Amino acid sequence: MAPGASEIGIHEMGHTAFGLADEYEYYEECGVDTNRDVHPGVEPAEPNVTIDNARATIKWRDLIDPATPMPTTMNADCTMCDPQASPVAAGTAGAFEGANYYHCGCYRPEFDCKMRALGFPFCAVCRRRIRATLAPFLPRYLVFELLDRIFDLRAYVNPRDWVVDPVPFDLARYQAVIRTPVPMSARLAADEFSDVVRGIERMDVGELRTRLLRVRSGIARLEAAGKILQAEIDRRGR
Ligand SMILES: [Zn+2]
Repeated sequence: MAPGASEIGIHEMGHTAFGLADEYEYYEECGVDTNRDVHPGVEPAEPNVTIDNARATIKWRDLIDPATPMPTTMNADCTMCDPQASPVAAGTAGAFEGANYYHCGCYRPEFDCKMRALGFPFCAVCRRRIRATLAPFLPRYLVFELLDRIFDLRAYVNPRDWVVDPVPFDLARYQAVIRTPVPMSARLAADEFSDVVRGIERMDVGELRTRLLRVRSGIARLEAAGKILQAEIDRRGR
């Protein structure tokens, strides 16, 4: 493979899989092009280039900080590629003149992006498009992944609330639970599964059956919790 081949592949996938435009401001090369001074002025369909540099209406306006100048860069000489360095920190969203094969009249969302030059990450607008395109194909959360997450949150989550308490699960209750710090001793004492396993030798059939029902209802609650959290994840992902 040629050096940079995988980078080129990822850039090309930006076009084919995600419908992204080239963000660079030349067609053949800076200094070689003769007819790439000013963009024809028709709004490109792609999400990552635009002829609109107005803060209130630009396609990616929600990503632009009020303190970032708009447009963020302007090309002082439209007969050539803009030689200026970025006036803002890498990763700052704005409107940078020079994009979609033209020196002037078209803007890109960040100074650099993999759709402008290899060796850079995708800009925030391109990342958002990629995520939105892939989201329907990503695996859904499973109950056991949720259990792992709850385990990660164990400093804040009382396992009794998740496993033992028969109160039906709802989102408001989940939020209340994770906001309530629990002392270590209470956490250890509240592990229903460990209790059952530890005490299994001395339980009669009736008690084992009762404990099993409690564990099962805990699992059912976790599954219900999984569905509610999944719906919340879906809602926020839109
Ligand atoms: Zn980009």
